[in-house]
Amino acid sequence: MHNPLQEEKVFKDPVHKYIYVQDQIIWALINTREFQRLRRIRQLGTCFLTFHGAEHSRFSHSLGVYEITRKIISQFERNRYADWPSEERLLCLCAALLHDVGHGPFSHSIEKTFGTHHEEWSCRIVLGDTEVNKVLRQVSPTFPQQVAGVIAKTYRQEIVVSLVSSQLDADRMDYLLRDAYFTGVNYGMFDLDRILRVLRPYQGHIVVKESGMHAVEDYLMARYQMYWQVYFHPVTRSADVILHHIFERAKHLHEEGYTFRFMLAPLPSLFANKLSVQEYHMLDEAFMQTVLMQWSLEQDDILSELCSRFLERRLFKYTTLEVMDVPMLERLRDTFRSIGLDPHYYLEVDFPSDQSYDVYRPGEQDEKLPILLLDAADRLTEISHKSEIVRSISGIQMGKYHLYYPQDLLLKHASRLDEATRRLLGLVEDQ
Ligand code: ZN
Repeated sequence: MHNPLQEEKVFKDPVHKYIYVQDQIIWALINTREFQRLRRIRQLGTCFLTFHGAEHSRFSHSLGVYEITRKIISQFERNRYADWPSEERLLCLCAALLHDVGHGPFSHSIEKTFGTHHEEWSCRIVLGDTEVNKVLRQVSPTFPQQVAGVIAKTYRQEIVVSLVSSQLDADRMDYLLRDAYFTGVNYGMFDLDRILRVLRPYQGHIVVKESGMHAVEDYLMARYQMYWQVYFHPVTRSADVILHHIFERAKHLHEEGYTFRFMLAPLPSLFANKLSVQEYHMLDEAFMQTVLMQWSLEQDDILSELCSRFLERRLFKYTTLEVMDVPMLERLRDTFRSIGLDPHYYLEVDFPSDQSYDVYRPGEQDEKLPILLLDAADRLTEISHKSEIVRSISGIQMGKYHLYYPQDLLLKHASRLDEATRRLLGLVEDQ
């Protein structure tokens, strides 16, 4: 099974042109039901409501991460670098392919409400009673544990983990290029081929040859731009806020004993926080869209209103707050209650640092491995010590608070709101 395929397989891909599959094991993993499920999960969750092209799936991203990892390793092998542990090749490729296999539908909102975690689910799928696990065990009985170790970043060889998960890893390189391509923005572009050529295995780390610094600067700039222009787009966050509130409301109703007109497996297990791997498999975005459509017909006004809002894209409006003004928010919550809007579901303060995407921060608080430059004298330096550009964009706290609310509902009650509130929420006509 861990032999090469008799004939190489290729996938046509808009980002990498072709994705090459050379190993039987990789081909078998792609054809498992768990991996095929990723076709039904969007890579960017609710982002398609802001950038309509962003319909690409976790399936295409996972193939892309595999392909970048394959290219990096083949460059190491061609150059016969002594510091590359060649016996780890298949492990790296499998972990790259499977790193997101546990992603659920609209991951961020569901994870926030139900406390699930996609990395943990990836490991459960790799280790559990699944087709993926059966394929991996054909390599060796302990191979699934090794793959899970790389995904969980506990595997003993840092160099293997850092290919899939570090500040300059195959995961980010693929999603930046892919998300830029499908959203149609130009900020996320950088010279991938150049970066792949300047990577080196060195004393247990993946490092960058110093002459490649400018290509890496470009990559970090792309990441910085994508973070602010796409990943933290306030309109996308508005859709996330509504989804989160839908799940919160449903969970609350379930706990209160409300009888849902529509309640299919595996929703009860999701609410009870005891999904099995088999039940998790049924959770995809097609299922969740059906749930939202059915819940838009529920008796509960809040749940049905929020679901129609999401499906019809009547998103919450937002206003930017320079500082967090707690007494002002308390007054606002009282005002919402006085006009019959529950502030728990109709008011939200959001801050960008709650995101899983980030801008580059050199080392310190980050568990991700920093970017190291290797100079001609074999010295390693963290990139921000050499690059003015990286210094200027790393660790900037530029975020502001955004206050989200349903402007359309509030307009109906505008006459009952005081002048300051109307101004804050943009409910006054411009003179
Ligand atoms: Zn990923």
